Amino acid sequence: MLVSMEVIGEILRWIIASTLFIAGLLIIHIWIRDKTRRISLLRVFVQFASLVAIYFILTIFPWILVILIVILVSTIFLGRFFCGWICPFGLYMDLVTIFRKSIKVRYLSLPNRFNKALNKLRYAIFAAILAIPFFLAPLHSQSWQLALFFAGSFKHLTILLGPLEPLIIPDTGVLVIEGLNFSYPYVRDVMFYSGEFFAVINGLLFLILTLLGTFLVRRLWCRFCPLGLSFVIINRVRGFRWIPLLHLDKSEEKCTKCGICKRVCPTQVTEVYENRGGNVSTSICIHCFRCVEMCPYKGCLTAKTGGKTVLSSRNWLEPSKTN
Ligand code: SF4
Ligand code: SF4
Ligand code: SF4
Repeated sequence: MLVSMEVIGEILRWIIASTLFIAGLLIIHIWIRDKTRRISLLRVFVQFASLVAIYFILTIFPWILVILIVILVSTIFLGRFFCGWICPFGLYMDLVTIFRKSIKVRYLSLPNRFNKALNKLRYAIFAAILAIPFFLAPLHSQSWQLALFFAGSFKHLTILLGPLEPLIIPDTGVLVIEGLNFSYPYVRDVMFYSGEFFAVINGLLFLILTLLGTFLVRRLWCRFCPLGLSFVIINRVRGFRWIPLLHLDKSEEKCTKCGICKRVCPTQVTEVYENRGGNVSTSICIHCFRCVEMCPYKGCLTAKTGGKTVLSSRNWLEPSKTN
C-alpha cells in the first residue's frame, strides 16, 4: 500500500520535533556534567535559536539586500561572531562534526601551509563566486531597477546569503513534501545557474561534496566562504579601526604552550598558539571561543571588546580551582 505524502509530511514533522526535544535534553545533560563544554553547548543553543529566527525573518521580511546589509554592518563590531554563533551553514557543519565525533572518526587537518595558501586564495575564490551569476544568469532587466533593488530581486547578491539557508524554508524549496519546503545552503543557486539539464545533478553533487568535505575537515566551507570573507574585508577598512572589535587576547606570562588551543580550533588558527601575547585574533578566526573554553589556565585566553572581558579561560584541569 502506498504511503500518502500527507503521512510522510506528518512523520517528518514528528521526527524533527522529537530530534529537537532529544537534542535539548542532551544539551542540558552535558551542561550539568561537563563544565568544559558549556560555551560549546551555549553556542549550539544560540545557533538553533538563530536558525528558527532566520526562518521567521525570511517569512515576514524577504528583503535580501537589507538582511545582507544588517549582517555586514554587525561585523564592524562583532567581527566574525556571526560565523561562530549564528550562521545556519556553520551549524550544519558543526552537527556533521558532532556526528563524526560520536562515531569516533578522527578529522583530517589541512597541512598548515596549504591552509594558509587557501587563505590567500580566498580572494580569488570570492571574486569567482560573485562573478558566476553575471556570466551564467539570464539577465532580468528588472533586476537593475532601483525600486526592486530593495525588494529582494537583486538575484546576483543572494549568492552571498547562501549560508543562511535553513533546511526548511518558507518559500519554494528544492524538495517539497506535504507543505514542507526543504533546501540546503547554496543548492538553489547551484541549480539555478546549472541550467535545466544539470540542475539536479549539480545540486546533489554540491550537497554530497560539502557534507563529505565537512565530515573530513572541520568547517571546510568557512575556509573560503564568500560571506565569511566579506566580514574580513569589512574589518580591514581603516575607517572602522576605532570601533572596539570583539577579539581574542592572550596573556604571554600565563601561556605554557600546551598547544590545546591549536588542536581544538575548527578552522586551524595557529596564531593563538604561536603569537606571544596581546590581540591574537586573525581573519580565519570565527569567534567560536572553543580555544577560550579549552585553554586550561585561568585568564590566559580571553574574549574582549572595548577593554572589557566577555569570556575567560579557567583552570579546568584542577577542579578545586575551577571557577
Ligand atoms: S564562513 Fe560562511 S559558511 Fe562559514 S560560518 Fe561564516 S558565513 Fe557561515
Ligand atoms: S591553550 Fe592556553 S596555555 Fe595552551 S598554548 Fe593555548 S593559550 Fe597557551
Ligand atoms: S582561534 Fe579560537 S575562537 Fe577563533 S576559531 Fe579558533 S577556536 Fe574559535
